[in-house]
Amino acid sequence: MSVELILESTPTGQFIGGEFRETGATFDVENPATGEVIAKVSDGGPDEARAAMDAACAAAESWAATEPRERAEILHRAYELIVERAETFATLMTLEMGKPLKEAHGEVTYGAEFLRWFAEEAVRIDGRWSVAPSGGNRFLIMKQPVGPVYAITPWNFPLAMGTRKIGPALAAGCTVVIKPAKLTPLTMLALMQVFADAGVPAGVVNCIVGSSSSELSEPIFADPRLRKLTFTGSTEVGRGLLEQAAPHVLRTSMELGGNAPFVLLADADLDVAVSAAMAAKFRNNGEACTAANRFFVHKDLVGEFQARFTAEVEGLVLGNGLDEGTTLGPLVDDDTLTKVTELVDDAVAKGARVLTGGKRGDGPGHFMQATVLADVSRDARVLKEEIFGPVAPIIPVDSDEEALELANDTEFGLISYVITRDVSRAITTAEKFESGIVALNTGVVSNPAAPFGGVKQSGLGREGSHEGVEEYLETKYVGIAL
Ligand code: NAP
Repeated sequence: MSVELILESTPTGQFIGGEFRETGATFDVENPATGEVIAKVSDGGPDEARAAMDAACAAAESWAATEPRERAEILHRAYELIVERAETFATLMTLEMGKPLKEAHGEVTYGAEFLRWFAEEAVRIDGRWSVAPSGGNRFLIMKQPVGPVYAITPWNFPLAMGTRKIGPALAAGCTVVIKPAKLTPLTMLALMQVFADAGVPAGVVNCIVGSSSSELSEPIFADPRLRKLTFTGSTEVGRGLLEQAAPHVLRTSMELGGNAPFVLLADADLDVAVSAAMAAKFRNNGEACTAANRFFVHKDLVGEFQARFTAEVEGLVLGNGLDEGTTLGPLVDDDTLTKVTELVDDAVAKGARVLTGGKRGDGPGHFMQATVLADVSRDARVLKEEIFGPVAPIIPVDSDEEALELANDTEFGLISYVITRDVSRAITTAEKFESGIVALNTGVVSNPAAPFGGVKQSGLGREGSHEGVEEYLETKYVGIAL
């Protein structure tokens, strides 16, 4: 299908109570590779937010009472429809977010898999029965849907961050109002069409889109019927949302920012290290919460690692993600590009050497060259802040112990990477990392069947795996006297 046809067939309205609704006002969605407006999307506000909450609350009781097998089958149909529409979803993501088309196809597979996984989980929700330690009383422990959910997603994985929340919520028997980032609403609206076509009853999933996320969200946080907030995005915004969740003491799941260390221990295999580093740093244009942010390399390896890694980085092809051959797309917008260039300039001013890249590419798109920085000073901003761009700062270290200490010296704790050939070092290092995820001799670990999430200021709760559905369940204990 042509790009024009894909765009023409993508809904642009708010999805409320099973129907797409226009509001009269619109906002623009741009292609970050060209700066062109690719769609005008209905601009929602407080009225749409209230209507979406009403729809989600009206559907809550009957959805919670639906047979688990039926919920599973609906989710499975939605999974199949995403796979059938892979070309549409991949093209939309490349158009509105910029990632290379091949990676967008990877996200379609990854995103769809959350629905298949949670379709399988829907029929495996169980409870417990036990005897009180003193005998006599019996305990019945049951799991019930938490209730209506508000889900807020970022722009960097426009499909997968939606299915990772909607899949478990629906499996658990919860209804949802979801709000994607205004930079990437099209993918989420195409996903709403999938749910409608898969037979999800009206009101079970609703999507609101708009140019002001705070105006859209305010009536939802004020609504005492809301039971749960699930958010993926920056730590800064997440902190503010936790405050808004406090008055009604909402259940919250927070998937926040990262500052991932990538550690080469003294015995690292350099072939493994270079290939893992490429994936950990440059996947998704460097705009991933899991992106390696700081490379700590043992001093005996640093010269060879820098040379081999830089040679690989120079092989990346920067361009429009829709063009065949592009392996690095534009950054999502000009603010992101400006921040990334500022981080590079700050590091260079503090003594870093640019081994390759270092500059903004030629506009009108928001292109940043793939960059490797050597000898980065420990007070450089690039080591403290989440880069969210294709920049790899390398810091030589004297020992494995020093690497570990520096790796944990951050308020974030989402993922840590370690490269080593020694099983015992691998295990002890994994135990010492202050992060929710550890990647051992690999640059990619995200998987719907694994529990994803951070510690410290990288978040609360887990998505995916069996833990993922628990986030949408309440535990009720019934004490029984015999
Ligand atoms: P962001 O600026 O925090 O925005 C995330 C979402 O929150 C968007 O939908 C945004 O909407 C919305 N939002 C912003 N302010 C809001 C407010 N006052 N009230 C309600 N909603 C509000 O993050 P981003 O730039 O989209 O995404 C990048 C960040 O996400 C990075 O920090 C990355 O590490 C993190 N991330 C984490 C994970 C994880 O699993 N831990 C996964 C992916 C991304 P608008 O954009 O429309 O304002």
